[in-house]
Amino acid sequence: MKITLLGTGDAPGTPVIGCTCPTCTDAHNGGRSKRTRSSILIETEKGKVLVDTGPDLRSQLLGSGVQYIDGVIWTHTHYDHFAGFAEFHRVQYNVDVYGIKETLDYILEYLHYMHPRRHEVRMYTPFFLIGLEFTLFEVVHPPAKRPAGVIIKEGKKKVVITGDTQRNISSRSLEVMICPDILIADAIVPPTIGVKKHMNSEEALDLAREIRAKKVVFTHLSHYFAPHDVASKELPLGFDGMEIDI
Ligand SMILES: [Zn+2]
Ligand SMILES: [Zn+2]
Ligand SMILES: [Zn+2]
Repeated sequence: MKITLLGTGDAPGTPVIGCTCPTCTDAHNGGRSKRTRSSILIETEKGKVLVDTGPDLRSQLLGSGVQYIDGVIWTHTHYDHFAGFAEFHRVQYNVDVYGIKETLDYILEYLHYMHPRRHEVRMYTPFFLIGLEFTLFEVVHPPAKRPAGVIIKEGKKKVVITGDTQRNISSRSLEVMICPDILIADAIVPPTIGVKKHMNSEEALDLAREIRAKKVVFTHLSHYFAPHDVASKELPLGFDGMEIDI
């Protein structure tokens, strides 16, 4: 499978409107600190699935040359993870959307005049799309109702996407997350900045150690990191357009 990080920013994105910090300045100048909002593209020769549909989806799909989406999986009900669905719904009708009941209820109420094909799935119960096995697992991201991370398996290969989460993930979820080839982890800030509802980069590395991830890539990044080229010397920061073959 091939994974493309279409958007690696936090909710405001980088640059943040009105900010002139070094990271936002790098983003304005076209550097890799430029981060759009959360969407991850998963591809096999059988098709393409999006994990989350952030508000920048139109430019992300145009930029990556994607022509057709075979399914959308939503992790939770925050605007920066679903609002871009409307960006291609008028281009491609009858999109298949997947999520737990609470997430689909909220998002489809918000997008009430759109009628994608709804597929309710359960936490910890695998479902199959484009030749891959997907499983949602519960994470901790108050006040979102039952937020989920995503496990993707293809044969012996395993990818874990934490979605937005704090570090205190339940032992049941940690058990199913164990030993991924790649962990794509929410790491919104460096440890010098206080944060709730998300992990800082220290906590994300600690999670990677605990579940024995072979590789970790950070996403949902804020402008509080140093400019990408500096920060990425020490930390495994993802960037918009990053492709991972596994
Ligand atoms: Zn988010
Ligand atoms: Zn800034
Ligand atoms: Zn969130």
